[in-house]
Amino acid sequence: MRGLEWIVAACHLACLSVVVPAAQVLAAEEKFKQQILFTNVNIFDGKADMLAKGMSVMVERNLIKKIAKGKIKAVVGALVIDGGGRTLMPGLIDSHVHFNMNGANLADLEAMRWDEIGARAAAQAQDWLADGFTTVRGMGGMATGLKKTIDSGLLDGPRIYPSASYISQTSGHGDITLVSQNVNPSRSNLVNLGITQLADGADAVRAAVRRNFADGASQIKIMVGGGISSEKGPLFAPQFTDEEIRAAIEEATTRDTYVAVHVYQDAHIQRALELGVKSIEHGQFISEETAMLIKEKGAFIAPFTAGITKEAFQHPAYSVPGTPQYIKGKEFQENSTNFVEIIKKVQPKIVMAVDIVFLTGAAGRSARDFEKFAFARFFGNLQALRSMTSVPGELAALTGRNNPYPGKLGVIKEGALADILIVDGNPLEDITVLGANSKYLDAEPRERDIKTIRIIMKDGKIYKNTL
Ligand SMILES: [Zn+2]
Repeated sequence: MRGLEWIVAACHLACLSVVVPAAQVLAAEEKFKQQILFTNVNIFDGKADMLAKGMSVMVERNLIKKIAKGKIKAVVGALVIDGGGRTLMPGLIDSHVHFNMNGANLADLEAMRWDEIGARAAAQAQDWLADGFTTVRGMGGMATGLKKTIDSGLLDGPRIYPSASYISQTSGHGDITLVSQNVNPSRSNLVNLGITQLADGADAVRAAVRRNFADGASQIKIMVGGGISSEKGPLFAPQFTDEEIRAAIEEATTRDTYVAVHVYQDAHIQRALELGVKSIEHGQFISEETAMLIKEKGAFIAPFTAGITKEAFQHPAYSVPGTPQYIKGKEFQENSTNFVEIIKKVQPKIVMAVDIVFLTGAAGRSARDFEKFAFARFFGNLQALRSMTSVPGELAALTGRNNPYPGKLGVIKEGALADILIVDGNPLEDITVLGANSKYLDAEPRERDIKTIRIIMKDGKIYKNTL
């Protein structure tokens, strides 16, 4: 007996079925299979330009099992939630996040220990989920540490498609080491933590990509032009040779996935597309001809639209006249004036990409709220909604056999993954029900809660329910 007691104690939860009576095991299984039924909802399915009224949606485990007009019969013990005529829609997707870029600036991050950066990234993950983002695409800096912690249920957060490190040439946009570290970049905290990798030459790029796959990257992010927040790569200069970009694409192709590039200049976008890049991050200087090329190549564009508003200069990293970031910010805006018209005319696949760096807590929330507003003002509510749901769902699927979450994302459809929001009102008519706010960092700071988002479900699990 003593031996058995010892085994029982040692096993604890791991071998529950050994010691728990059969009836209780059955009850536990029943619970696992439990259905959640949403009744009396109007559905935005991620695509259609109008709501399907008076519907019911049945979720079983982590999938949308059944959608029907009127009532659906649920099993005994199912959780039934009356939507009260509210809108049921897919969980939101932010296609461009940097949860690790969470200090006030680069020097701040250089001075931080890994545990502070990690803890702040965890807070970011909680924040995004609370805003209704059930999936994010990490566009550099994050490998799988945070993702695994969330997926295992230890921490609330969105699904993460990580790119692992940014890959940049020396003196490129991802060369975010301090000037004092130029001669020896390996002294950089951000290099040592794997937030960025510097690679010069096709073989070095190939090795960097392979290291990222070893770190669980679902897609690859490289920098092929200058950026605003970095100091070393001017906006006019291309980065990486064709050969280097090709090496990255070849390696990504062996993993059945794709390469995304940070880029602004029209010629640089064209070059990337011709070489086989599938995701254009930012791309605001694009011409009509190149926008057509995005369509032809089956690629996507992921711009942050807050950057082309006058409010952008409220951002503390860009607001100080005379600094390189301020000067680049001005240059960026001068070159982005035709962006909205071109995208509206050509209509390539476009995803919302909030691209928050150096903002956390209430400031981060304000930035997300403003991006929702700005995107919808430029492209309309329907496009904003599609660009936060079904279109990034398609982009996620480009990760092919490398997809960490195989299944359909961003749509309300039978068989799709059960990432679901229920919101007050109709977001097709009023985007503010998703938290959109016309004010940027001058907005009234708000708590981690968008009151009009009543239910947040990810992977069949309810994280918020105020119904
Ligand atoms: Zn970015």
